Amino acid sequence: MKICAYEVREDEKKDFARMAEKLQVEIELHDEIPGPDTAALAEGCEGVTMLGMGKIDKELLDMWKSMSVQCISTRTIGYNHIDTDYAKEIGMQVCNAAYPPSGVAEFTLMLMLMCLRNYKQSLWRGQVNDFALQGLQGKEIGSMTVGVIGTGKIGAQVIKYLTGFGCRILAYDMYPNVALKDVVEYVELDELFAKADMITLHTPLLDSTYHLVNAETIAKMKDGVVLINCARGELMDTTALIEGIESGKIGALGLDVVEGERGIAHEDHRIDILSNQQMAYLRQFRNVTMTPHMAFYTDVAVSHMVECGVAGLVEMLRNGDYFTKIK
Ligand code: NAD
Repeated sequence: MKICAYEVREDEKKDFARMAEKLQVEIELHDEIPGPDTAALAEGCEGVTMLGMGKIDKELLDMWKSMSVQCISTRTIGYNHIDTDYAKEIGMQVCNAAYPPSGVAEFTLMLMLMCLRNYKQSLWRGQVNDFALQGLQGKEIGSMTVGVIGTGKIGAQVIKYLTGFGCRILAYDMYPNVALKDVVEYVELDELFAKADMITLHTPLLDSTYHLVNAETIAKMKDGVVLINCARGELMDTTALIEGIESGKIGALGLDVVEGERGIAHEDHRIDILSNQQMAYLRQFRNVTMTPHMAFYTDVAVSHMVECGVAGLVEMLRNGDYFTKIK
């Protein structure tokens, strides 16, 4: 059995070697992002695994199918980069990864605290020996009402950590999590928008969640609302975010993900001209903290991601099924 792995980073290689040995499978490692120009790397392989920076569309799926690739796995939780409907149509199985939610949840709490304590500005000012306190007064989570949208694995873990701060927690999910009933108040989305001082998003990117935060929903929020996004950039309309920051409606933004980050996140662009104008504009505000889609990036998560990516393919190829199979 031969597998082609795309987007392989140095820090994943030891886990690929471990899984190849454990499951007795040959794995070809490539750092290239999957796309029509790199599709041929999968020639002779039955399974393909990738991270989230490629666009796995009809064209690419057809190319792989013609090379006898039978199934694909993404070593990420999110799978919005894959046209799963088309994969199903052509009989190509797809699975995603599962890993402990604690890494992303901890990062979410970090972004919340960085926003609330003006960390970005204090760090920047310190670099020019400006140690004045003016403009740096913060807020405490314990005195706030925090809204959590999406209470699956990561949202629930964020809620668990938030309970330690003593804040009031409002939540919205189409499928409320009964295990959380004693610590959160599930409310309708509009009520959450109206009452929360800080809102954090933990839904997948779907048609129903695309631009969940937009000009209309921001207008329903409290003045000075703090917004956190460690899920997917496209959950937020960047134009509306910029308007919200410029008008003062949004008090602070903590973004690990941003619209149009593909081709930018996870790459060194020091000597390039950045192609995402809105992202470049948004990140320069004193109250916008941006990180390059790295909430997932811990030793624990990476090990699980590789394990799921390889084991998922092997299961699908050997047994025709896998527990995290999407379609
Ligand atoms: P999950 O499937 O466990 O939970 C998602 C929750 O969202 C579910 O409870 C679901 O019912 C809810 N949901 C779906 N549509 C909704 C809607 N329209 N309104 C409200 N709730 C809705 O997923 P998870 O493991 O918690 O991950 C959530 C997302 O986080 C992933 O889909 C991925 O995009 C993102 N993520 C980002 C990083 C990162 O590094 N920044 C890492 C991992 C995951």
